[in-house]
Amino acid sequence: RPMLEVSGLTKIYPDGTLAVDDIDFTVEAGDFCVIIGPSGCGKSTTLHSLVGNLDVTAGAVSLDGVEITDQPTHNRDIGLVFQDFQLFPHLSVSENVEYGLSQLGIDDREKRRRTERLLKMMQLEGLADREPEELSAGQKQRVALARSLVLEPKLLLLDEPLGDMDYKLQKRMERELLRVHREFDTTFVYVTHDQTQAMRLADQIIVMNDGQVEQSGSVAEIYNSP
Ligand code: ADP
Ligand code: ADP
Repeated sequence: RPMLEVSGLTKIYPDGTLAVDDIDFTVEAGDFCVIIGPSGCGKSTTLHSLVGNLDVTAGAVSLDGVEITDQPTHNRDIGLVFQDFQLFPHLSVSENVEYGLSQLGIDDREKRRRTERLLKMMQLEGLADREPEELSAGQKQRVALARSLVLEPKLLLLDEPLGDMDYKLQKRMERELLRVHREFDTTFVYVTHDQTQAMRLADQIIVMNDGQVEQSGSVAEIYNSP
């Protein structure tokens, strides 16, 4: 079934820049979808439109069959992981993971249960009391993923989360992402400008160029066509 359906999405910034030009795409539930395209083609604008951070010019977005276009950001069941992870620097790893659950008013026992499960899944149990500045990039990424996934979003958006890492670390983090995606049975939409990364990660690839969707399909359909 479709998890995400986007139709006619358009974003014109106040200065007149047409960043996203009437795009349509669908992402199936459980897929790892990669949106790829050169810098400035509208990838980030698309992600931020989905999550409700931007006042879109036109278009409709449905999540799991429900139209969310006019829902406020905090009501959208969508998680976001950015390139710089945006962890809270003065909270411990477990406090970072728990934070969003407190905002949701979930009781202490359930909070502890979910947090412990995620720390275990991300192999962070030994680091629960550390602060972010004591962690490696890869560990920070796992905390950022744990913090989003603990809220059990229907859809997780990832905006170039491996952008700042060297090649070796990137490859390791890609394996982590695929493992988490598999274990969590959740839908990922992942933005990158790196074609080899897209080929390694994607069930579905959406190729953007100049604010438009140029192609959409499986890795084989996009890259191995005769
Ligand atoms: P990408 O993520 O693919 O690099 P963006 O979505 O960031 O692309 O940008 C798409 C286009 O919109 C670019 O031309 C960019 O300069 C422009 N843009 C992005 N943010 C703004 C903004 N706040 N105001 C005006 N133009 C913007
Ligand atoms: P990304 O490609 O990940 O969007 P950028 O460096 O293009 O990263 O953009 C970083 C920030 O600058 C974003 O908040 C974006 O909205 C803003 N921005 C990008 N292009 C423009 C622009 N032409 N005018 C105003 N703001 C912009």
